[in-house]
Amino acid sequence: MRDLQDGESAQVQGSARTPYILKNVGGVYSCSCPAWRNQSLPIERRTCKHIRLMPSWA
Ligand SMILES: [Zn+2]
Repeated sequence: MRDLQDGESAQVQGSARTPYILKNVGGVYSCSCPAWRNQSLPIERRTCKHIRLMPSWA
């Protein structure tokens, strides 16, 4: 099991043709997918299926 370290980013293949980019910035995870970007929550509260799947990347 591996998590992103602060400042790291990773690509994850989603339903779109181009991979989404996940990032850990200061302990706050972000994703470039529309589901994440369109949430009307502060960024530290947002999540998406890609972020939830993260521990299984390794
Ligand atoms: Zn996402």
